[in-house]
Amino acid sequence: MAHQILVTGGAGYIGSHTTLALLEAGFEVIVLDNLCNSSAESLRRVKLICGKAPTFIHGDIRDRILIDKVFAENKISAVLHFAGLKAVGESVREPLDYYDNNVTGSVTLCQAMSQAGVYTLVFSSSATVYGEPLQMPISEEFPTGVPTNPYGRSKLMVEELLQDLAKSDPRWSIALLRYFNPVGAHPSGMIGEDPNGLPNNLLPYVSQVAIGKLKELSVFGDDYPTQDGTGVRDYIHVQDLAEGHMSALRAIVQKTGVDIWNLGTGTGYSVLEMIRAFEKASDRTVAYQVVERRSGDIAECWADPSKAAHELEWKAKNSLEAMMNDTWRWQVNNPNGYVND
Ligand code: NAD
Ligand code: UDP
Repeated sequence: MAHQILVTGGAGYIGSHTTLALLEAGFEVIVLDNLCNSSAESLRRVKLICGKAPTFIHGDIRDRILIDKVFAENKISAVLHFAGLKAVGESVREPLDYYDNNVTGSVTLCQAMSQAGVYTLVFSSSATVYGEPLQMPISEEFPTGVPTNPYGRSKLMVEELLQDLAKSDPRWSIALLRYFNPVGAHPSGMIGEDPNGLPNNLLPYVSQVAIGKLKELSVFGDDYPTQDGTGVRDYIHVQDLAEGHMSALRAIVQKTGVDIWNLGTGTGYSVLEMIRAFEKASDRTVAYQVVERRSGDIAECWADPSKAAHELEWKAKNSLEAMMNDTWRWQVNNPNGYVND
C-alpha cells in the first residue's frame, strides 16, 4: 500500500493546494476537515485538476474517538496539520474557540498519533510567533516574541507543546513551518482562497475591490518607517508553500526531533506596491483610502529563507506577477468562491 498521509484542514486554502501536490507526487491522502471555514467543493476541484481524489472524512480534530478510528482503519505514516482557526480579529472576540480548536485540537491529535504509533508531524505555524523583531530579515534563530492576539498565542503555544513532546519522546519527528504571507491560487484558477464574509487579509480584499464586490480598500496606515509608509510583508505563493510542505515531509521522515523552517521568499513588498502590482495583473483600478493603523500590526516582516534553502533544497519560485495573475484568475473564474450560484 502507498504511504498514506493524513491532512487535517485539507479542504482549506493551503491544505487543498498541498493535498493536490501530494496526490500529484503519488501519495494517498486522507483529508480530515470539519468544513467550518471551507467547502468540500475544493476537493472535488482537486480531483478535476489531477484525476485523483483524497479520501474525505468530515470531522473534527477534537473528536478523539473519530481520530482513533481514522488511525486504526488506515496505514497513516505522517500527518500534515493545517486544521485550525486563523482570523486575528475573531480570535480577540472569541478566544476560547481559538484555544479550543488550535491548542486542544492539536493536543487531541497528538494523543491519537502517539497511541497509533505515528510520530511524523508537519505543523502550520506562522511568522506571527516572532512578535515584533528588531531587525530584518527574520531567521529561525530569532527568539519568539510576544504575539499580540489569541490567534498568535495559540500558534506559539502549539509550537511549545510540540517542542516539549519531542523532548519527552525521541520517536517524534516534527516540522514547525513558519509561513509568512500566503497568497495566490493554483494556476488553473480552479482552487484558491475563499474567505468567509469580509476578507481579513490584504490580497483577497484587493481582489474583491478590483472585481467590484467591495467599494474600496482601507490601507491601514501610511506613516510606518518603510519606503512608502505602508506595511511591508513577505508574500509567498501558495504553490510554493505546498512544495515547501513536501520538502519538509521528505526531510523529517529521515530524522527525529523538532525542526523549524521559515517559508517565505525573502523579499518584502509594501501595501502600495501590492496594489500597483494587482492593478497591472487585473487591468482594473483598485480604489483605496488610507486610514488609521490596525492595532497589533507591525511595520515590516520578511523572512530569511536560507535555512529551508540549505536543509530542504526548497526555494519559493513564483514571482509577484505570478501571485497576482493567479489570484486574479481565481477571482474572475469564481466570483463567489466555491459557491457559484
Ligand atoms: P483555512 O481556514 O482555509 O483552512 C483551515 C481548515 O481547517 C479549514 O478547512 C477548516 O474548515 C478546518 N478546520 C478548522 N478547525 C477545525 C477542526 N477543529 N477540525 C477539523 N477541521 C478544522 O486556512 P489556511 O489559510 O488554509 O490555513 C491553514 C493553516 O495555516 C492554519 O492552521 C493557519 O493558522 C495556518 N496559517 C495560515 C496563514 C494564512 O495567512 N493563510 C498564515 C500562517 C499560518
Ligand atoms: N492591510 C491593509 N488593509 C487591509 C488588510 C491588510 O492595509 O484591508 C495591510 C496590513 O496592515 C499589513 C498588510 O496589509 O501591512 C498584510 O496584512 P494581512 O492582514 O494580509 O496579513 P498580516 O501580515 O497582518 O498577517
